[in-house]
Amino acid sequence: MLKNSTPRALTRSNAQFAKARTRLPLGVSSSFRYWGDEKTIYVKRGLGGRIWDIDDNAYIDYRLGYGPAILGYADPRVDEAAMEGMRRGGVFALGTELEYEVAARISRMVPAAELVRFSNSGTEAVMAALRLARGFTGRDAYIIVEGSYHGLFDAAMWQVDMDGWDGKTGEPELQTYGDGIPRQLASLVHFTPLNDLDRLEGVFKAQGDKVAAFLVEPIMGNCCALTASTEFLAAARRLCDQYGVVMLVDEVKTGFRVARGGVQELFGVRADLCTFAKAMANGYPIAAFGGREDIMRVIETRVRHGGTYTAHSVALAAANKTLEILEETDTLETIRTYGLNLQAGITKILNEFGIPHCYTGHPSMGGLFFRREPPTNYRDWKTSDYNFYDTLAPFLHDLGVLVEPDSREPWFICAAHDQACLDETLTAFRTGVAQTLEYLQSGAAA
Ligand code: PMP
Repeated sequence: MLKNSTPRALTRSNAQFAKARTRLPLGVSSSFRYWGDEKTIYVKRGLGGRIWDIDDNAYIDYRLGYGPAILGYADPRVDEAAMEGMRRGGVFALGTELEYEVAARISRMVPAAELVRFSNSGTEAVMAALRLARGFTGRDAYIIVEGSYHGLFDAAMWQVDMDGWDGKTGEPELQTYGDGIPRQLASLVHFTPLNDLDRLEGVFKAQGDKVAAFLVEPIMGNCCALTASTEFLAAARRLCDQYGVVMLVDEVKTGFRVARGGVQELFGVRADLCTFAKAMANGYPIAAFGGREDIMRVIETRVRHGGTYTAHSVALAAANKTLEILEETDTLETIRTYGLNLQAGITKILNEFGIPHCYTGHPSMGGLFFRREPPTNYRDWKTSDYNFYDTLAPFLHDLGVLVEPDSREPWFICAAHDQACLDETLTAFRTGVAQTLEYLQSGAAA
C-alpha cells in the first residue's frame, strides 16, 4: 500500500536539489527533470511499475522514463541479458553477430524497416534519418506537425508558440526551443496542424518540391497523445509519393508499444523511414532507424552515419531480449488491457463527479482531457480545461501516483502494472479529484 503523507515530504530531494545545483545546471541532467526548486524529485530506485524517491515516497509510475520501461523497472530477464552483453566486453568499434539478429527482428516486426541502423538515443535516430532523407532527395526543407517533439537537435528544435497564441487571431508564431539555434534554419522548417487536410495539401503544394521529409508522429507522444486520422495519414502518404518526399514516421515512443509493428501496424500506413527508441530495450540506451532499402542503401555511398557507442553490446543484448518478449508473448495485450481498465475506472470516478472528459492516443500511452471530444490537433488543445489537469497532477503525486505535471505528456503503462497498482491508482485518483475540486472552488488557485 502507498504510505505517503499528504502533502508528502520532499526534504531530502530538496536538499539534494540545492547541492546538485552547485555542480549541475538546474540540478539535473536533462532540463525536463526540473519541476521547480521545491518539486524536483530524485529517485532512489525503481522496481516493476513503481519508483521510490530519496525521501522514501512511493509512486505508481505512469511516466516510466517517458516510456522506455515497458516491461517494468529492473526486469530480471532483460537485466540478465544486459549482463551477458556486459561480459562480452562493451564497445569495440566493430560489428557483432547480434546486430543482424536484432535488425532482422525489427524488420519482421515493422516491415517498413527493410534495413536498419542503430543509434544511441531517439534524438540521434531522428537526426540521422532526417539527414538520410536529405541525402536521398537532395533537398533541405522538411515539414513537421505542430506540437511535435522529435528530440534536441537544431532541425527539431522549432515549435509553434501555442502558449503565447490567443487561439483565435492570426497564426501561432514560429519559435525555437531556447537559444543557440541558428535563425537561418527557420526557412527550412514548415509546420502543419495535425489532421488538417487542406493545410497539409497547401504546404505540399507551396513547398513540396523543396522538401526532403514529412516528419510525423501519428500518436503524438509529447503532445497530448493527439492522434492522426487515417485519412490524414493516407493523404500524407499520397502527397509524399506525389512530391517525392520521404515520409519519416517517428516511432520513438509508439514503436513496439502500441502494437508489435508500432503505429504503422495500428494505422495501416507504411513509412519510407521510421525511428525507434524508448520501448525497444526496456530502458537501456539504444535507438534505431530503418526504412526502404533504396533509401537506406544511400548510407553505403553518400550519407554518413555512425558513432562510437552504436550497437553497444549491453544495450543491444537488452534490446534483443526486450523485443523477443514483446514479439513472442502477449505482453502488449496485457498492457493494453491494463490501460483500458484504468480508463474505465477513471471514467467511473469522473462520471460520479459529473466531470466531462475523454481520452486520446492508445491505452498503452494515452492522454486524459477534461472536455467531451478529444482534441484533434494542438490548436484544439488550447480549448481543453488543462488547468484542471495541471491542478490535479500535484495532488496525485502527493497521493503516490506519478504522472507528468503537464497535460501534454501521456500516461504510460508497463507490463508490471498489476491489479494492486490499478486499485491504488483509482483510490488515489478519487481523492485527488475531490481535492482538486475543493482547491479550485475555494478560489485558492486565483
Ligand atoms: N522523438 C520522439 C517522438 C520522442 O518522444 C523523443 C523523446 N521524448 C525523441 C524523439 C528524442 O528521444 P531521446 O530523448 O531519446 O533523444
